[in-house]
Amino acid sequence: MLLLAVSKGRSAAELRTAHKLGLDHFGESYLQEAIEKISALADLPLCWHFIGALQANKTRLVAAHFDWAHSIDRLKIAQRLSAQRPANLPSLNVCLQVNIDNETNKAGVSPGEAQLLAKQIQALPNLNLRGLMAIPKADANQSTGHQSYAHMAELLKQLQQSPELAGSQLDTLSMGMSSDLEAAIEEGASIVRVGTALFGPRKPKTHQ
Ligand SMILES: *Cc1c(COP(=O)(O)O)cnc(C)c1O
Repeated sequence: MLLLAVSKGRSAAELRTAHKLGLDHFGESYLQEAIEKISALADLPLCWHFIGALQANKTRLVAAHFDWAHSIDRLKIAQRLSAQRPANLPSLNVCLQVNIDNETNKAGVSPGEAQLLAKQIQALPNLNLRGLMAIPKADANQSTGHQSYAHMAELLKQLQQSPELAGSQLDTLSMGMSSDLEAAIEEGASIVRVGTALFGPRKPKTHQ
């Protein structure tokens, strides 16, 4: 299991310290802030994950500077990332974001749409489809959190069993944050995305 250190709002100096303590995967949500840190820390062997909302105007920089994108929820964004991935870099690892609790105004494909989008994405040359990501309902209690995560594990299993997706490296469930990572791990998370529990509370974000 991978501990992804969610470092939005943290300075490059804080990340340098975190790296000395053994962390080398960092998750960022705000593109400009992330690009500055990636360039300031280019001397370190870090792996960068984009976990924020992905609009068309962000794909070029994500494709050029990140190793992973967790929040793909439509084909157009995937097509742009594939087309814009620089030729000298390996394929961009991607996860489909699933709106697992069917919340209105929440990003992500519905659970029923995940198969089709996965098949479309696996046909793109410069993306490596790794699995699924979710941010469950914020007010979920322990047991509904467990249910949502178990549903995610079930969806990943369906993808793994789909003959049309044979050959994809579908090994990833990106789920679980500071408040509920235990439940996510119990249901099979392979990447937990943890900010507050590692770095302390964040200051409120005022721009972007
Ligand atoms: C901020 C963020 C996290 C980390 O949240 P914490 O509660 O600080 O652990 C995880 N995933 C996503 C998508 C985020 O935006």
